[in-house]
Amino acid sequence: MSVPLVTPTRAYMCDAANAPLHEGEIKRREPRDTDVAIDIHYCGICHSDVHQAKNEWGIAKYPLVPGHEIVGLVSKVGSKVTNFKVGDRVGVGCMVDSCGDCISCKHDAEQHCVNRSTGTYASDDKISGGHTFGGYSASIVVDHRFVLHIPDAIPLEEAAPLLCAGITTWTPLIEHKVGEGSKVGVVGVGGLGHVCIQLAKALGATVVAFTSKASKREELIGFGASTVVVTGNEEDFKSVANSLDLIVDTVSDEHDLSPYLGALRFRGIYHIVGGSPLPLKVPAFPMLIKSMNLTGSLIGGIKPTQDMLNLSAEKGVRPKIEIGQLKDVNTLYERLLKGDVKYRFVLDIKGAYHK
Ligand code: NAP
Ligand code: ZN
Repeated sequence: MSVPLVTPTRAYMCDAANAPLHEGEIKRREPRDTDVAIDIHYCGICHSDVHQAKNEWGIAKYPLVPGHEIVGLVSKVGSKVTNFKVGDRVGVGCMVDSCGDCISCKHDAEQHCVNRSTGTYASDDKISGGHTFGGYSASIVVDHRFVLHIPDAIPLEEAAPLLCAGITTWTPLIEHKVGEGSKVGVVGVGGLGHVCIQLAKALGATVVAFTSKASKREELIGFGASTVVVTGNEEDFKSVANSLDLIVDTVSDEHDLSPYLGALRFRGIYHIVGGSPLPLKVPAFPMLIKSMNLTGSLIGGIKPTQDMLNLSAEKGVRPKIEIGQLKDVNTLYERLLKGDVKYRFVLDIKGAYHK
């Protein structure tokens, strides 16, 4: 039986592809026995939010309330919840439900739930029968299995981007066993890329950052890159030829993989996490000649997300953020599309709704 949505909640939403976001009201369910209610304090702006608001992937559901880098404080817990209490610092990432029983769920990969996981927004919600609403809102109610503990060492607002940018780039690093001595390239240094550099470095890797903007060079070294390769600079590309074990590609738009493949070693791995709505260009011969691997991944499971948060606390991984106001969200989207962000916008929800 579906659980009704009853609690009026302020939120920013858009009503159609390419329509601007505006303030309005959604409804949340009352917490069930197994739920945690959260007052949202901050929410990151992921490039996926922009793809979805514009329906570039063709899967948007309106009204669409974006936001899957959610952090805040617990305001209520259901009677069967034992691992969270009122006042705890918590986070919610890209998923809010899955079956919990299938092979994917049992192997900490709930995003690949055989019975379909529920995305934090614009996803069919098996609990209410409607669709889910994300974190550009005052509060959220989530099953405790999908709530993360934010370690005390990480300021709440800086933790927000780890809930998506962090786990999404952690997955390839763990899957390909990155550690001391690994050589990792990161292509595209925005929200995901700048966290990926820090996580790879924290795991012991030597990191090469590939960027289209020479002006980012010093900052990328500050994040932990030992070398920065700038698009179009042949000397930069020559200096890293055939050297890398793994490249993580975070680019949000269509592009040609050719220049980057030259940096991979024999049997190197090219791993895509960027969500370009248009196909990427992959040349056949470099793949053949170096017997390379091309793969990709979608976000990451809940246990790996907690592992990544704990390691970030311990090793000083800290997203570089710019706090933005909810009322300015449309301008922030325009700036993100121009690459005018260092390196993640985080919306101040507390300032808007919990003064
Ligand atoms: P972002 O902050 O906008 O960063 C993307 C970066 O890609 C830019 O900073 C830029 O880096 C580079 N770039 C953009 N357009 C390019 C082009 N045409 N050619 C070459 N480089 C270009 O975006 P984000 O939030 O990090 O997200 C990146 C992508 O990952 C998005 O498509 C998002 O939807 C996707 N994503 C996927 C998952 C998943 O589960 N796989 C999860 C979250 C997000 P430089 O300025 O350094 O060149
Ligand atoms: Zn995201």
